[in-house]
Amino acid sequence: MIKDIDHILIERGAISDRVRQLGQQIMEDLNEIDEETEIVLVAVMTGSIIFVADLMRHLNKKIRISLMTASSYVGKSMETTGDPTLGKLPTVKGKHVLLVDDILDSGKTLTRIREELNEQEPASLHSCVLLRKTIDSAMSVPCEYVGFDIEDEFVVGYGLDYDGYYRNFPDIGVIVP
Ligand code: 5GP
Ligand code: MG
Repeated sequence: MIKDIDHILIERGAISDRVRQLGQQIMEDLNEIDEETEIVLVAVMTGSIIFVADLMRHLNKKIRISLMTASSYVGKSMETTGDPTLGKLPTVKGKHVLLVDDILDSGKTLTRIREELNEQEPASLHSCVLLRKTIDSAMSVPCEYVGFDIEDEFVVGYGLDYDGYYRNFPDIGVIVP
């Protein structure tokens, strides 16, 4: 199972500590929101599957969870195709939106989704990613909540895959180059 993983970058305990902190930080902001306007958490599948499941249990609010898909990799590639394919977007007009994704890399996925959601004129739009690579393309995309800044390496585990595998690996590891 773990033969392709070169080393662990972030252990499960550190992930869960940080996810709890992010949840607290998000809750402080959500508590400012008026009770009438609905909050929608938009989770970008499939990479955010574990992150969003853990994060949402720290958000003690009446929240609607909406899933959408985005993919930018083909098969065994570790480079994005550059042009993400988006599935159907949820309806968010007039709602407070928290957009949750696994990782910011080229930034194209989050930029595209933010643009398309903004066209619907939500009441507010904030983004949250577990990981962000410390490269210009990722750092320049607006993102209000970031779990960890990491180096530009290909990581798997805690929802993130290589060729569809390793999403179930509980820590975040770096794949053998
Ligand atoms: P973008 O390049 O558009 O910022 O990232 C698009 C998507 O590529 C992310 O949502 C994530 O699913 C995937 N991705 C980017 N970097 C990595 C990585 O290091 N590991 C894995 N497993 N997926 C990544
Ligand atoms: Mg993704």
